[in-house]
Amino acid sequence: MNELSVPRPNDLDAYFMPFSDNKYFKSHPRLLARAEGMSYFTPEGKEVLDGTAGLWCSNAGHGRREIVEAIQKQAAILDFAPTFQLGHPLAFEAAARVADLTPKGMDRVFFTNSGSESDDTALKIALAYQKARGQAQRVRLIGRERGYHGVGFGGMSVGGIGGNRKQFGTQLPYVDHLPSTHLPAQNAFVKGQPAHGAHLADELERLVNLHGDTIAAVMVEPVAGSTGVLVPPVGYLERLRELCTKHGILLIFDEVITGFGRIGNHFGSERLGVIPDMITMAKGLTNAAVPMGAVAVSDEIYDTIVNGVAGGIEFFHGYTYSGHPLAAAAAIATIDIHVREDLPGRAKAMEPYWEEATHSLKSSPNVIDIRNFGLIAGIELQPREGKPGDRAMQVFRRCFDDGLLVRVTGDIIALSPPLIIEKSHVDRIFSTLADAIHKEA
Ligand code: PLP
Repeated sequence: MNELSVPRPNDLDAYFMPFSDNKYFKSHPRLLARAEGMSYFTPEGKEVLDGTAGLWCSNAGHGRREIVEAIQKQAAILDFAPTFQLGHPLAFEAAARVADLTPKGMDRVFFTNSGSESDDTALKIALAYQKARGQAQRVRLIGRERGYHGVGFGGMSVGGIGGNRKQFGTQLPYVDHLPSTHLPAQNAFVKGQPAHGAHLADELERLVNLHGDTIAAVMVEPVAGSTGVLVPPVGYLERLRELCTKHGILLIFDEVITGFGRIGNHFGSERLGVIPDMITMAKGLTNAAVPMGAVAVSDEIYDTIVNGVAGGIEFFHGYTYSGHPLAAAAAIATIDIHVREDLPGRAKAMEPYWEEATHSLKSSPNVIDIRNFGLIAGIELQPREGKPGDRAMQVFRRCFDDGLLVRVTGDIIALSPPLIIEKSHVDRIFSTLADAIHKEA
């Protein structure tokens, strides 16, 4: 654009959109101009019921006044302050508030600005910890096929999604993967946690036999979201925990989606009864009103790294915006809402109704699997011959036109509504979705 050109308000050219079909979007734009409670509104004022909490993130619903006011107030008091060798009160308060929600003994919190940054930070903390405790040979990082850990080189490499890597050619070295826990032949249409698959955690033994004592950490999502809602088989995470402890390997839970009430507790680890050594989070932490992520680490990890050097900087890592005042204000206000309104409890109370509604789609055409846990659901559709992803994408577009936002990954429709959802919203989501699936038969 030259100096004299005036952008048209509807000029869509300049924005190079993330994870998007730019060409299609720019010829068929879908714009969201406003949001409130359970809904978005288009620039024309049409309501779109939010079946996905944005991108799994606006857990307390949209436009929460307390969060808006906290951000506005903080912007006028302190717009920015560095947190390298300095600090400001809200960053410390926000860390303490997060630590109140994380499992006991996991009371140290490092701030980032996104899930991707949280995941890369956790991987670096794992390496720093192993080195500080005299295990510098432990440089290997283990992920899982169909895991999603964001888009940094660390998270992308430890993640297990081929499509997210094939464009870039290079990966982080010293990475290996556990198999996916997805066993459709045994577990299709199971409600909640599937019975089969705990044995897949034993693959870690095989990797230990192969790599010896060079493994620093294992990173997994307790419930994989972005690859189509893969719920952990009964006993799987327990077994992984056992093996990590046995072999001196850190266990990192990526709770970017499962954190902040999504599966009925503040963190998924509590719901699933397995305590990792680190938890990564983002999204629901600020209700997505300001970008922020965090890594909660066990006191032992923090103490080992911080006491590992005599003086000076202990951990050579951080972001200009780590603990940003506006994000910290948003996080505190968000946590206030979660606790006061017991959003995890609300999610848990709604789960049976949600589960029944989800599985009501079983008889819809081309539905080949349904998975659910907490307020998450994945509905897998039979791909169209030679056109993978097309059927689900058409369902997504139909739903949007009919006033419902769903998310699509491959031929899977993923749902994760704000936790303030009422039964009438659940009914609307599934009747609109059933209609769209029928029309795409
Ligand atoms: N980890 C998980 C489990 C996620 O679902 C996501 C995003 O969906 C990320 C990491 C990356 O988060 P962000 O997009 O904030 O970088």
